Amino acid sequence: MLKAILFDLDDTLLDWSGFAGDWKTLECQFLTGVFDYCAANGSVLPDLDAFVDEFHTRIRESWRLGRTSLIAPHIGKVMVEAVEAQGAAVGAFTAEALLGAYGWHAVPGTQLFKEVPEVMATIKKHGIKTAIVTNASQPMTLRDIEIEEHQLLQYFPDCRLSAADAGVLKPHPGIFQLALERLGVSPEEAVFVGDNPIADIAGAQGVGMQAVFRITSPMPQMLSGLIVPDAAINSLEELPPILDGWFPGWREN
Ligand SMILES: [Mg+2]
Repeated sequence: MLKAILFDLDDTLLDWSGFAGDWKTLECQFLTGVFDYCAANGSVLPDLDAFVDEFHTRIRESWRLGRTSLIAPHIGKVMVEAVEAQGAAVGAFTAEALLGAYGWHAVPGTQLFKEVPEVMATIKKHGIKTAIVTNASQPMTLRDIEIEEHQLLQYFPDCRLSAADAGVLKPHPGIFQLALERLGVSPEEAVFVGDNPIADIAGAQGVGMQAVFRITSPMPQMLSGLIVPDAAINSLEELPPILDGWFPGWREN
């Protein structure tokens, strides 16, 4: 019986194709808030560019390590390291305080894929639990601000999980198991939907879930044959009919 559907966030529910800026410039704007916050709270760091570079060097290294170890980067922890490396007293700032100063919000140019509200409303109407499981280095408290701006939060009351909070990145089984635990369902009662063959499809199948590949770009040739999704869709509108085949009667609630 179908009890829950878990979704990746970026490029599965949230369309980034309209984002025209560059990530480093965008992040610099957020980091300026952190720089100013430190100055206002007794730690004037020597130089904004040096702080931004310090942060970027450290977060890039965290992602590099994460790709092999699957230990999740956490921007709050990296910000604390960066301000301390730039001269703030050790322990002067908490990750929570710096994350607040970072001022994360929805990124201009991003939007929900147009079919998302209607499909999510259908899923919730039939009593199916839902989750977001994202490989973000931002804790979910930050991504929640963004998904509320996109009016997505209402469809995910049960579980929203960021890799930064889980401690590990997809495809590590731990992040999927934690989400299933929070939902109170077994892998056989759940379906995962995502756009990344390794993180989403191989990861979810690895813990026993059926996995639907949301095609935003074709699966790389080298992976086709090695990773075989249980289904592939071009739009989330195609998901309910697939569920009809796998879980007849799921709409009867
Ligand atoms: Mg994605």
